[in-house]
Amino acid sequence: MRYSGFRIIKEALTGHRGWGPAWREPEPKAHYDIIVIGGGGHGLATAHYLASVYQQKSVAVLEKGWIGGGNVGRNTTIIRSNYLLDGNEPFYEFSLKLWEGLEQDLNYNAMVSQRGIINLIHSDAQRDAFTRRGNAMILNGADAELLDEAAVRREYPYLNFRDARFPIKGGLAQRRGGTVRHDAVAWGFARAADSRGVDIIQNCEVTGFRIQDGTCTGVETSRGFIGATKVGCAVAGSSGRLMAHADMRLPIESHVLQAFVSEGLKPILPGVITFGAGHFYVSQSDKGGLVFGGDIDGYNSYAQRGNLPVVEDVCEGGMAIMPMIGRARLLRMWGGIMDMSMDGSPIIDRTHIDGLYFNGGWCYGGFKATPASGYTFAHLLATDTPHHVATAYRFDRFRTGHMIDEKGVGNQPNLH
Ligand SMILES: Cc1cc2nc3c(=O)[nH]c(=O)nc-3n(C[C@H](O)[C@H](O)[C@H](O)COP(=O)(O)OP(=O)(O)OC[C@H]3O[C@@H](n4cnc5c(N)ncnc54)[C@H](O)[C@@H]3O)c2cc1C
Repeated sequence: MRYSGFRIIKEALTGHRGWGPAWREPEPKAHYDIIVIGGGGHGLATAHYLASVYQQKSVAVLEKGWIGGGNVGRNTTIIRSNYLLDGNEPFYEFSLKLWEGLEQDLNYNAMVSQRGIINLIHSDAQRDAFTRRGNAMILNGADAELLDEAAVRREYPYLNFRDARFPIKGGLAQRRGGTVRHDAVAWGFARAADSRGVDIIQNCEVTGFRIQDGTCTGVETSRGFIGATKVGCAVAGSSGRLMAHADMRLPIESHVLQAFVSEGLKPILPGVITFGAGHFYVSQSDKGGLVFGGDIDGYNSYAQRGNLPVVEDVCEGGMAIMPMIGRARLLRMWGGIMDMSMDGSPIIDRTHIDGLYFNGGWCYGGFKATPASGYTFAHLLATDTPHHVATAYRFDRFRTGHMIDEKGVGNQPNLH
């Protein structure tokens, strides 16, 4: 069924009896050409592009819980392509371009809102760094605009410009950045993939790989063995645990990141603001809540909940840059498990086991990557060659020393 304005009117006039389920609940088959493990944004996007772009007819997504229960439905919804390094910027710009056409591609309202993002500048050194970043973005076909203090003031007059530990001296704006309704991304990809014949199997946990003579021939699951010619792993924060079943130890640590939503307020924040010096980022949802976050909790964990010291730290960051936020009440908060890699950049690669492929290491920036991650992982799975915007995301960079250290903090996952 296609969604459209006409369809809504028709259903409204006929008692809404014509709506069908958005995707099927199929039983697993004995064998698929390609199995994607993980029904988060990346796994579902991979399945969608495998079916739509690479014409794969026999694909399943295995999800241990329910669609959208992981980070894809837990993030702070920010999309952007304001990266500096060669390995990253073309990939994230490709992703932003896919976001721009996503709703038409999926026939699903994911509420893609290019309301703009501003990274605040607090020092001359930071202005130099952001100027360089903006130039790298423009060279890669993205948009970037350097703002002085007066320009930021015009858009956000209530920020703490002077009486602050980090006075605001300007900003790097990307007008095409913004927000997307996170769980709608999971539902939209799931529905589109299902409509092309992909089996989305929920409540099906992968508990092992069957590996014979160095080749992966399928997966052991909570619903029995399922054979596959190729298996792609896209389980984000659970990457370490899953790949341990194949005796792989990854250059990835799992950490908790929390998100926060205030009570609904009148429209006040036109776009997204990030305050890198104190680490705080905030936007306003269409329902009026301020959606914000900050640093990860800083210790290794597989728990999908965080601790109070970081709540205090994030709220202090908010108060420092936007003091009026102290008047708003916090409505809810939650945590997600982040797959933090050693250099802060992801991996989309084959493994040393034939037929077994890996996608992970997204740190806490993987939501914006969802369409490009799915597209390039589908390309790798279907053609056995890396997509040209993802050639840098290989395992062997950790052996050869070709790090993509966007933040320049070295091999310390909790700092990326
Ligand atoms: C609080 C928070 C804020 C964030 N903010 C942003 C942001 O503003 N912008 C941004 O770009 N990124 C952000 N991120 C990061 C982003 O959400 C993640 O990088 C991205 O969603 C990870 O990919 P995914 O959607 O596929 O992960 P997930 O949705 O976590 O999908 C992985 C799936 O794998 C399943 N799984 C795990 N193990 C197994 C198994 N053994 N068998 C079967 N299935 C399994 C899980 O149940 C899960 O559904 C944020 C994350 C969090 C938690």
